[in-house]
Amino acid sequence: MSTWHEYIQKEATLPEWPYPIRYGEVNEVAADVLVIGGGVAGLQAAISAARKGVKVAVVERGHAKRSGAGGAGVDHWHGAVTNPCSRVTPLMYTNACYDSMQGYTGGHVRYIITSESWDTLQECEKMGVQIRDVNDEFKGADFRDEETKLTFAYDYRSRHVIRVWGYNIKVKVYEEAKRLGVNIYNRMMPTHLLTADGKQGKRVVGATAVDTRTGEFYVFSSKATVICTGGAGRLYDFSPEVTASSSMGNMNAAGVGEAIGWNAGAEFVCMEGSGPGRLSGYAYAPYSMANAHNTYHGTPVVDAEGKEVPWVDAFNRPVKSQQGRFLPSEGQDFILGEGIGISRYLEQFRNNTLIPDLPERIIKGEFKLPLYADMTRLPEVERRNIFGMMVGNEGKTRIPIYDTMTRAGFDPDKDLFQAPVVTPEGYAHANFWSTGVNTPPAIRMLGGGGFLIDWDLRTNLEGLYVGAGGNLFGGGCHGESHTTGRYAGRHAADYAKTAPEPVVDSRQVEAEKSHAYVALKQDKGGNGWKEINAAIARIMRDYCGRYKNEQTLNLGLRLLNELKTTELASAYASNPHELGRLLECHALISVGELAMKSSLARKASNSILDFHRLDYPEMDPPGWNKLLPIKQVDGKVEVRELPLDFHLKPPYASTYEENYRLHCGL
Ligand SMILES: Cc1cc2nc3c(=O)[nH]c(=O)nc-3n(C[C@H](O)[C@H](O)[C@H](O)COP(=O)(O)OP(=O)(O)OC[C@H]3O[C@@H](n4cnc5c(N)ncnc54)[C@H](O)[C@@H]3O)c2cc1C
Repeated sequence: MSTWHEYIQKEATLPEWPYPIRYGEVNEVAADVLVIGGGVAGLQAAISAARKGVKVAVVERGHAKRSGAGGAGVDHWHGAVTNPCSRVTPLMYTNACYDSMQGYTGGHVRYIITSESWDTLQECEKMGVQIRDVNDEFKGADFRDEETKLTFAYDYRSRHVIRVWGYNIKVKVYEEAKRLGVNIYNRMMPTHLLTADGKQGKRVVGATAVDTRTGEFYVFSSKATVICTGGAGRLYDFSPEVTASSSMGNMNAAGVGEAIGWNAGAEFVCMEGSGPGRLSGYAYAPYSMANAHNTYHGTPVVDAEGKEVPWVDAFNRPVKSQQGRFLPSEGQDFILGEGIGISRYLEQFRNNTLIPDLPERIIKGEFKLPLYADMTRLPEVERRNIFGMMVGNEGKTRIPIYDTMTRAGFDPDKDLFQAPVVTPEGYAHANFWSTGVNTPPAIRMLGGGGFLIDWDLRTNLEGLYVGAGGNLFGGGCHGESHTTGRYAGRHAADYAKTAPEPVVDSRQVEAEKSHAYVALKQDKGGNGWKEINAAIARIMRDYCGRYKNEQTLNLGLRLLNELKTTELASAYASNPHELGRLLECHALISVGELAMKSSLARKASNSILDFHRLDYPEMDPPGWNKLLPIKQVDGKVEVRELPLDFHLKPPYASTYEENYRLHCGL
């Protein structure tokens, strides 16, 4: 029997819960390094810690073999600037990101990433990931280096974004972690970080968790802990039943890492930043419709009558040749590439793209819908690279898009590939399948903020480190997540080697245990986790959306608290899975509170953070050009001020190179 429907038809009843239920049964696990979140960052953290000879445990919400945003693959790896073909240095790349974001990104994290991204990728190669054109599929292509057989994306001259055959990358890092003896605990829902004496702000000594299959309770004690749980995708929007819902995200991305960090007293920055939630479930399955962005960068787009949409460079000058779409233009240093966790680009580093006034030209009738990708106009190597190598390896595209379309007869050598038909504004960005106009304007997502970390990727809490894209201030995408995970794991292991034994506070464990099981005792007439999650998302959209003021934020906080103390307090869970989802709702409320409190602290509008205070409408007043680190001390919120370039100020050295040399631990 292969499907749910077949089962119901045959048995005429719902299946029994398939696992033994053991609510309240306690398992104790001791590790030197505990990694929370087994995505690509988490597994790399585990691998680098294990290579240092310490005992490592990973706590994962799904199954680490395929979990996370990177579980289904990757086709291009960013930040590998030290590869032998690159014309970009770590400093050039770091400054390009930092300056583009006017300082609102962790420069030190960018420097760490670019210093080690290529080394990390080569380690993946050793694990069995193909990172070179070893079969000479693209021999002689502009984007290939004949000596190393590396192939590049976005900028064929500067050569720092590497195209990879990464459909199996998650499986390979998983196998490596297992080979090194890492203990992986799948299907776990962490509820809290354990701290010395059970106190907020003290050394982190482990975590508690619930097994979402058996309901058992786990107490992990650890000398060092690394959080790698990705982002908080279900905070502003929750619509899992909508086709392609949250398909760029991950149902398990409920902000639990941020929540347990916040509740333990960790410090965060830029959590007031947000952006259009364009990947939230109202658009199309990733890469499933024609477009000219990311994996499809460079693809010719034509209208219903075959008229080609022109390309422009970063300065809005025409790009006449197809080759030019992949080259920096006059006045540019290099092209940074997209999908690196920054929302603004200075012109010197911006991509070539389709004409920005395409919406107006569609309205005037110059281009007729629908639009199509016409890959027949590409040179053969580019065509095979995009609809072949890239679509065949990109996350979530190998089977759903490449295989399905190919089996259905699509042939890029002769067929056109249709773009979605949306309102003209939807064509303002070359990524047609996920543009903001396909989603209600109120939909938002957190943008760019995360744990404030030092040059060791350590938080303000002793023993607590962070790796990853989604919840690290200065993190990025796939390669960045591997690299920061690897760096954080190495530092956590170094700390663990000399750290005192962790002492778990039994009162804290007992309190967590009784809190974790409350929902099981509730009357089943109350709300379930889906209603609660939808209510949280509604409150966030309404009261902490793009436009907000003191009143809406305070009302939002009140509503979140009411939800927590009424509907959530009386919500029920029928099985360990529902219990896990309800516990995630607690986490979502914590992250929502963190975002609202951060928003209250910034009494100024800020264009980079897409942060609009109606009561402080002046955009970017100079006095507010700073970070506002926020944390909880004894349950009370504390906010301080920090210069944007804090990572180059005492106690740190004044240059990136010197800080990296002092802290990299190599
Ligand atoms: C379709 C798609 C295509 C992409 N293509 C590219 C690309 O080509 N290039 C690129 O650079 N980037 C790409 N990305 C982005 C890239 O995959 C992510 O940036 C990267 O995977 C982030 O890694 P991570 O380990 O930080 O987070 P994730 O991969 O999201 O992993 C987080 C892990 O934590 C687990 N977790 C979550 N909550 C908990 C919890 N409460 N307890 C325990 N575990 C938890 C999750 O199950 C998951 O395993 C793509 C993403 C998608 C979705």
